[in-house]
Amino acid sequence: MKRIAVYCGASKGNKSLHTDATVQLGTYLAEHNLELVYGGGGVGLMGLLANTVLDNGGKVHGVMPQELVDRGASLDRLTDLKVVDNMSTRKKTMLNDSDGCIALPGGPGTLEEIIEAFSWARLGDNDNPCVFYNVAGYYDSLRDMFDNMVQNGYLTQSDRSKLLFSDSLTEIFEFMENYIPPRIRQYSK
Ligand code: AMP
Repeated sequence: MKRIAVYCGASKGNKSLHTDATVQLGTYLAEHNLELVYGGGGVGLMGLLANTVLDNGGKVHGVMPQELVDRGASLDRLTDLKVVDNMSTRKKTMLNDSDGCIALPGGPGTLEEIIEAFSWARLGDNDNPCVFYNVAGYYDSLRDMFDNMVQNGYLTQSDRSKLLFSDSLTEIFEFMENYIPPRIRQYSK
C-alpha cells in the first residue's frame, strides 16, 4: 500500500480524543511512508490531518472541486492539488488515486463518502478496503446498524466482514494489508 484516502470532518468537533486520533493517524501515515489522499481542505479535522502529515515529512494529495477551490477552501501547502469538476468526480478520483480508505470522525460528508466507497466495493467498482477508525466509540451505533443489516437479510455476513470498525491503527493497517475485495454482488429474483 502506498496511498491512503482519508475522509473526515471539515469541522473539528469538540472532543480532544478525536483531534488526538487525527494527529496519531497523520503521524502514522508519514512515519510509514504512506501518502495521504484527501479532500484538500484546510479546515477542521481535514486541515489538522493534512498539516500533521506534512509537518512529519509526509506527502499530501488534495482533490477538490473547482467550486470549493474558488471559495478558498484548499490548504495552501499541499504536495499537490487536483482540481476536479464536481463532488462525484472527486470521490472517484480519490478512490482511483488510493489503495485504501479510512474514515475518521466527521459529519454527513464523511459518512457519505466512505459508505459510497463500501457500496461500490460490493458492485466490483472499488478494490480498496474501507475502515472506520472508531475513535472513542464514535461509530458504535453505525457498526450496530451494519450488524442489523445482516440480521435483517440486507447484507451477507461475508460482505459485512469486509468492513472494519476499529480503534487500533495496528489492526486497521493489518486488515488493509490482508484485504480481499468482496465477491461481486449477485442478484436473485
Ligand atoms: P463533513 O463530514 O460533513 O464535515 O464533510 C467532510 C467531507 O466532505 C470531507 O471528507 C470532504 O470530502 C467534504 N468537504 C466538506 N466540506 C469541505 C471543505 N470545506 N473543504 C474540503 N472538503 C470538504
